[in-house]
Amino acid sequence: MFFIYSTKPIVLATIPLTSPCPTCPHEWRYLTIYKKYFRFFFIPLVPLRKKAVVTCPGCGNEQSKRQFIKAREESERKNIAQHLQKLMKQTKAPKYPLIIFSLLVMVIGGLMISGSIQNREQGKKIQAFMENPHENVALLAKIKDEEYPYQVFLISKIEDQLVAWQWKYAYQAFTPAYTALKSLNQKLSTTFLEEHFVDPISVDKDDLQHLDIVRLESISTSLSSNTK
Ligand SMILES: [Zn+2]
Repeated sequence: MFFIYSTKPIVLATIPLTSPCPTCPHEWRYLTIYKKYFRFFFIPLVPLRKKAVVTCPGCGNEQSKRQFIKAREESERKNIAQHLQKLMKQTKAPKYPLIIFSLLVMVIGGLMISGSIQNREQGKKIQAFMENPHENVALLAKIKDEEYPYQVFLISKIEDQLVAWQWKYAYQAFTPAYTALKSLNQKLSTTFLEEHFVDPISVDKDDLQHLDIVRLESISTSLSSNTK
């Protein structure tokens, strides 16, 4: 899971400080100001707090801002703290994580809205079909208690009778079944029907009421001519 989430920081600035190292003879050290980000797949999304660390380039000794201030003479501490605070305030974080985050929120929001609009339209379509069953539609129905419950049907018509063509394959999950349903419109032909569907059965319009239809697509090719 740590590949998906992390809080790897972004370095905002490195500023030299004239302050000798406590553990080696090096005369100066540098202040690194960084900001941690909550990352999703390495993309910085949510900014966390800005932090600072003081590092010696000679021996690698590292002090947090607090340790660095504490190591000074008491009379200096307040000034040092204010100075570091000012440096940190002046160091601006990049804008792009905020832009990425906003874009992501907009995309997800947009998808959710269009998804719910689509669902509502589907609901209306299915209801209209139930009230007035007609030909030239493809249905995705969920058949109860089946191991592969998602099944695709094509509805055509001979005179008053509706004819259901059942797709040879049934699916365990919704998504592949829906993909199959969506692809029908481009592929439909008499040979395709014969090859990919089991023999059609006549159904009473009332029988359709027992079918749990989850998706419905209109078919642009006329099936009536194909079923003769
Ligand atoms: Zn050092």
